Amino acid sequence: MKSRPQTHPSARAQHKILVVGAGIAGLSAAFRLQQAGYDVSVLESTSHVGGRMWTDEVDGFRIDTGAAMLPDSYHQMRRLIRDAGLTQDVVPSGDVYGFLRDGRIHRFGKHIPLDLLTTRLLSARSKLRLLRLAADTRRLGDRIDFRDLTRAPEADESCIAYTDRRLNEELFDYLIEPLSTNYYFAPPEELSMTHVYLAAGSALGTGYFNSPRGVAFLPRGLARQLDVRHRTRVLSIEENEDSVTVTCTDHRGEHRETAAACVIAVPGPSVAGIWPGLPAPMRTYLSRLRYSTCLHVSFGLSARPREPSMWIFVPRREYPGGLGLCLDHNRAPGRAPDGKGLITLYWPTHASEDLYDLPDADVTAQALRDLERLNLFPGLAQRIEMTSVSRCRPCVPLTHPGSIAELHDGLRSLDRASRVMLAGDYFSFGSTNAALTSGEVAASRLTVTLEARRPHRD
Ligand SMILES: Cc1cc2nc3c(=O)[nH]c(=O)nc-3n(C[C@H](O)[C@H](O)[C@H](O)COP(=O)(O)OP(=O)(O)OC[C@H]3O[C@@H](n4cnc5c(N)ncnc54)[C@H](O)[C@@H]3O)c2cc1C
Repeated sequence: MKSRPQTHPSARAQHKILVVGAGIAGLSAAFRLQQAGYDVSVLESTSHVGGRMWTDEVDGFRIDTGAAMLPDSYHQMRRLIRDAGLTQDVVPSGDVYGFLRDGRIHRFGKHIPLDLLTTRLLSARSKLRLLRLAADTRRLGDRIDFRDLTRAPEADESCIAYTDRRLNEELFDYLIEPLSTNYYFAPPEELSMTHVYLAAGSALGTGYFNSPRGVAFLPRGLARQLDVRHRTRVLSIEENEDSVTVTCTDHRGEHRETAAACVIAVPGPSVAGIWPGLPAPMRTYLSRLRYSTCLHVSFGLSARPREPSMWIFVPRREYPGGLGLCLDHNRAPGRAPDGKGLITLYWPTHASEDLYDLPDADVTAQALRDLERLNLFPGLAQRIEMTSVSRCRPCVPLTHPGSIAELHDGLRSLDRASRVMLAGDYFSFGSTNAALTSGEVAASRLTVTLEARRPHRD
């Protein structure tokens, strides 16, 4: 069989592609499509790029309002950083996690197997039980793949059922629950074990990187090389035989634009609203998928506490509802001016929902009460010189037990040769790298589709 001739990049430039959403999924799709030679524009409803990968600057402190941690296991992100010429922007960053138990912080770094052996966080009995989790992880092997969650259907079991079957109460209280609360801001009762495997696999026992300018360095760096139209909200997308029609509203009011193809890179809950052509099984998957809510409060401090961890897991066994405490100045450089500190308190979903609509002053007061009750940093209140509240809804997708089968049906219903492609973290777990990878996959599929449909005319 003769292979089809490849379209020359200069011919591809005649094809307009619109990307909806300038989060990391949309920007990575746009960057790869532009690299392939297409004429790409990104339509973003807000006034800044990055979506849930953003950094606010307040009085000299840098607050990562969404994603904060970038583990070395994010190979696709490292490659994109390199290809976009941003390598000089990143440096190795903090990698020590702390787990609170009985008022003591138990620390884990890159050498987690050794740390686990020697830690006093867990009893000897639990350490032995942990070998079962290690064995199960090994058995699942590379089928636990963030690029395709459907490859390990047996991992789609509730965390509670798995704990009852394989672990014990102590491991649930001091490992499974804090991991779920701190990584997904959700209780383990609502989560599938798939998520625990993914979180543990990508984030524990690894190094981390980050940028002194905040995680927004990446969306900003990509956007500088792209045509991004801010304050442009897409209202609907229609696929035609030879094109797509995008209806949007911007400073000119509501109007329609035609393009050869488009990538929809908005959060899962918004997809169905703008794409009436979304196949029913994917619509069902997205309508049932829940996202967590996260409210967090950052405190800029005149001096740093001595604690070396970059993140402290506060299990709900130790504190009602559980918490996450990030010591941002240990997590990544550039978050606080020299000698100063930055600490962020993260509430899990249910507490975040209760506080979400309160005024910032009330939210900040509650965060302070929690910090004082925890009493990990005595005298902290006297050192506060800046406070900032961040609200994230939707925060990250929560794959509940059973949703992998729905995802499987949803994926099968998508036409791989469609001119409309989806990208976002809802294909995987809530991570910047998963969102970015979905954008790259969408870009490469569109390239194949457009190539297959047009070669004889170019
Ligand atoms: C509090 C929090 C902590 C997190 N921690 C981490 C972490 O430590 N590490 C990690 O890797 N990940 C983390 N994540 C997850 C990660 O941030 C997300 O999974 C990822 O950024 C999602 O990217 P996205 O491009 O799919 O979506 P988004 O970033 O949500 O981007 C979607 C974009 O689409 C725009 N948009 C929406 N509707 C329209 C429309 N109709 N028209 C035009 N534009 C539209 C939005 O304004 C937005 O800019 C965290 C997330 C949160 C919220």
